[in-house]
Amino acid sequence: MSIPTRWNPDIEKEITREWEEQKLYRFVKDSRPAYIIDTPPPYVNSPVHIGHAYTYVYMDSIARYKRMNGYNVLFPLGLDRNGLPIEVQVEKELKLSVRNTPREIFVQKCREKLDEYSEASSSSFRLLGISFSSYEKGYVLGDMYETDDPDFRRLTQDIFIDLYNRGLVYESEKVSNYCPDCRISLSDAEVEYEEEVTGLYYIKFRLEDGSDAVVATTRPELLKACKAIIYNPEDERYRNLNGKKAKVPLFDHEIPVLPHPYAKQDFGTGLVMICSYGDRGDMMVFKDLGLTPTFLIDENGLMNENAGKYSGLKVREARKKIVEDLRNAGYLVKEERIKHETPICWRSKTPIEFIPRKELYLKQVEFRDELKKLAEQMKFYAPESAELLFRWIDSLTDDWVISRRRYYGTEIPLWYCKSCGYVYVPPKGKYYVPWKEKPPVEKCPRCGGTEFVGETRIFDTWFDSSNTPLYISGYSHDKEFFEQNYPVSLRPQGKEIVRSWLYFTLLKSYLVTGKPPFKDVWIHMHVVDEKGYKMSKSLGNVIDPMEVIKRYGAEAFRTWVFLEGDITKDDVKCSYGRIESASKFLTKLLNISRFTQLNSKEASLPENMSLSDRWILWELKSLVKSVRELNDSYYFNKSFTKIRDFTWFLFADHYLEMVKPRIYNPEYSEEEKQSAYFTMRKVLDVVIRLMSPYIPFITYYLYKSIYGKNVHLSSYPEESEVPVTEDLSAYTERIVEFNHYVWNTKKSMGLSLKDPIDLKVPEDLKLFEKDLIAMHNIKSPEKDLKA
Ligand SMILES: [Zn+2]
Ligand SMILES: [Zn+2]
Repeated sequence: MSIPTRWNPDIEKEITREWEEQKLYRFVKDSRPAYIIDTPPPYVNSPVHIGHAYTYVYMDSIARYKRMNGYNVLFPLGLDRNGLPIEVQVEKELKLSVRNTPREIFVQKCREKLDEYSEASSSSFRLLGISFSSYEKGYVLGDMYETDDPDFRRLTQDIFIDLYNRGLVYESEKVSNYCPDCRISLSDAEVEYEEEVTGLYYIKFRLEDGSDAVVATTRPELLKACKAIIYNPEDERYRNLNGKKAKVPLFDHEIPVLPHPYAKQDFGTGLVMICSYGDRGDMMVFKDLGLTPTFLIDENGLMNENAGKYSGLKVREARKKIVEDLRNAGYLVKEERIKHETPICWRSKTPIEFIPRKELYLKQVEFRDELKKLAEQMKFYAPESAELLFRWIDSLTDDWVISRRRYYGTEIPLWYCKSCGYVYVPPKGKYYVPWKEKPPVEKCPRCGGTEFVGETRIFDTWFDSSNTPLYISGYSHDKEFFEQNYPVSLRPQGKEIVRSWLYFTLLKSYLVTGKPPFKDVWIHMHVVDEKGYKMSKSLGNVIDPMEVIKRYGAEAFRTWVFLEGDITKDDVKCSYGRIESASKFLTKLLNISRFTQLNSKEASLPENMSLSDRWILWELKSLVKSVRELNDSYYFNKSFTKIRDFTWFLFADHYLEMVKPRIYNPEYSEEEKQSAYFTMRKVLDVVIRLMSPYIPFITYYLYKSIYGKNVHLSSYPEESEVPVTEDLSAYTERIVEFNHYVWNTKKSMGLSLKDPIDLKVPEDLKLFEKDLIAMHNIKSPEKDLKA
């Protein structure tokens, strides 16, 4: 096959088809060691975005690298389909309300939408050349899986049943983080903090002796639920107030003034009103002081009946109204604007509230030390990203709220006896849907009653997705394989889900297996726009990976991925221009390959190899060594940059130029020519194989064209296959310098590169003299070089 001068992306589809026909990446158990990648199942309700495209390409290079190193790579595609986003989308797109639609129908609509989207996600990954073990859904190792599949849900339920029977799950009416928009409780991992400019209101409370105490608060709408005023025990100004009673403005109930270290002397007036609940701090003080909470906010985020005349108002409206009333009644002393860290829901960005809900909790706080011990056994890339996990484990103060009052998720497998309230837990091994099914038992084991109510709640979606390493390594399908291969090899994932996905997976793994889930963890930052901003529809700076593929092809995108920055350290900047510019390397690679194919013959290792050949082969050998070292620590970007630099800026720019005369000139001996042929083909063979995990399409095409073999079935280059032993790297810089010197000199003299020139090859390059003289058409090699 003759090699074209430009890469034609249309070939990529044809190549993908060939790979799939050959079932090239299919996972089949054999005697090789397994290497298992627990890929992050993307949520399928939106198209694959540029960040997904980047990280999956990166993971793909890891999979391909490990395959070429003799591992049997298990690299399954997972699709996340449980959870709120699809419900919200169905409500919006189909104009259905989750509350007014029968559950059966609503769930069906969600599933139909998800099926549509799943197809789109997996086809995007295909176009990118991701070598998943399979794109077909199924239940053997390596198959594509979906988190709402009955089989995946059964695993989630099985694990829950175990944990429940071991006494690790309990139900409690606790105050939890609550998002009024999503209408669900949130685990602490799902709460983010956003700096907001908000009012700080100074409010006058009348004390029993007739004097006033001024309290500063950001949440005056909670006055009705105010149960104490506190001051810091160190604060001299307020010691005389200890135990005094104060009257709450507008509502007139009496509350005590008490010392508590939660009050900060330098915030506001140093006096703090404690209400149920403005924040986590309020909750702690309530507990410490034995106060009884009153709740003012309902599940819709509206003030409830306890709020008196403010009932029915939204929280922010009530705040405005109450400030007005305080002002009119003369209680408002002053008002400031301050920056305040507001807790918000990570999905909808709504300020969260703290309201009491009866929910199921999984114990976690008591295992913090054990979890840290397991986390220490995992190796983090980059090492400093481990801190994110350790800090999160240290910060845990409450157990994990795992129940959600929504529809589209794994059902909690419990039934309740109608007559005595007995909680019936079914046996493991089946996917249960308690909201529409009868329990697998006739009578209540406690009272003999025959009527049960099925649980209607579902699990937090992290309760599902934290099972992925168990699922993919055969915990529920292939015990033998699981025993041999757990913990799995690698978890690649984003920094923003360390406290959710990574943490919850660690917790699950600890509770279920007592082992860490992974050997290695690779944490990445994000892909941002050219100016460093997050891509968003509203900013209009979104780069759609499908558009990139349309314009430049997948291989251009992949080239860009590995030439642009280190995503474990910083966000990576993306633009069409950057991708286009990275893709120039593909053109260069084609030209180098075409030149080599046209100008060399198959040649065996010559007995006497020319020095230039031995020199470039030594450089190649060093390249193989450093690429391997970098890849073994997952620095595929650094290694690819090295391969590009070698191929373009050393092999092509210098070596091939030095060797051209030998190829074309009859005055060189056959042995000298053979040495050149051997070297050119050897270097190209090695660099194509080195590059094939990163840019699998073009390397597949080239290797087949030149060597007639499938590069993806070849092994990754080893240092030992480069047949040189003498370190000639000391010459590299000198050769590069000398060549540039000659080119620049000719240019400044108005000569073409082919024109003859008078100069002397420097003493330290004497051994390369023959090639250098021929290459530069040097006429008087005796003349001194004024370098
Ligand atoms: Zn929300
Ligand atoms: Zn009963």
